[in-house]
Amino acid sequence: MKKIVILTGAGISAESGISTFRDSGGLWEKYDLKEVAHIDAWDKNPEKVLNFYNQRRTQMAQCLPNAAHLALVALEKKFDVQIITQNIDDLHEKAGSTNILHLHGKICEVRSTTNPNLIYNIEYNPVKWGDTCPEGSQLRPNIVWFGEEVPAIELAIKICQTADIIIIIGTSMIVYPAASLVHFAPTHTPVYVVNPDPNSANSREIANLHFIQQKASVGVPELVSKLLNE
Ligand code: NAD
Repeated sequence: MKKIVILTGAGISAESGISTFRDSGGLWEKYDLKEVAHIDAWDKNPEKVLNFYNQRRTQMAQCLPNAAHLALVALEKKFDVQIITQNIDDLHEKAGSTNILHLHGKICEVRSTTNPNLIYNIEYNPVKWGDTCPEGSQLRPNIVWFGEEVPAIELAIKICQTADIIIIIGTSMIVYPAASLVHFAPTHTPVYVVNPDPNSANSREIANLHFIQQKASVGVPELVSKLLNE
């Protein structure tokens, strides 16, 4: 069975009503990243950070997977599929995909501030300053913030090294180390990029690149049907 590795970013969830990161009208026009998504922000004003993620959790509770998330599930009939997502939302899970690695954490999880291995699923509930884990430490969102290491990156690199096909959907490929992952695939691996922005695939030095300039809800079902019928 051929292995397909799918790298997804905020753009795949845009049509489900979750703002992207850098598009006009995106999240960071409304919030200063340094105030809510950086480890220094947590040290400076943890209540503001908790509030920001409580709002994101409430918003994401209402969101449903779109045609792109749903189409990817069908690939599992014919391929060994591994999704590596930068997204913190749970739309791949809601759609029914099986193998999902969240590089930057999950919105529905919190963890102990002193022991990163103590992780709890809180679904869509808020977490407040003063909420502690059973060992007595403050809980924080289980999100990888700017300024922090990405614990899953080594595993993600190993997965990309074994890819027969790579699909990249809805990411500006700006946030490192996630943006470097495609370069760990064997040199002539076919790489499909689905993104309405033509600049998103530029200057990537990818030998076997197929750019699909479409929104995810259109481009992904088309690509999935092509791969299933090949
Ligand atoms: P980004 O905002 O930097 O880039 C979004 C990309 O999606 C752009 O290239 C844009 O052209 C593309 N796009 C916009 N609408 C699209 C659509 N309908 N279909 C396909 N592509 C579309 O996002 P990124 O590269 O994922 O940035 C990474 C950071 O953003 C990560 O750290 C991630 O955790 C965070 N983030 C996640 C979410 C989420 O969980 N849904 C939302 C916002 C930000």
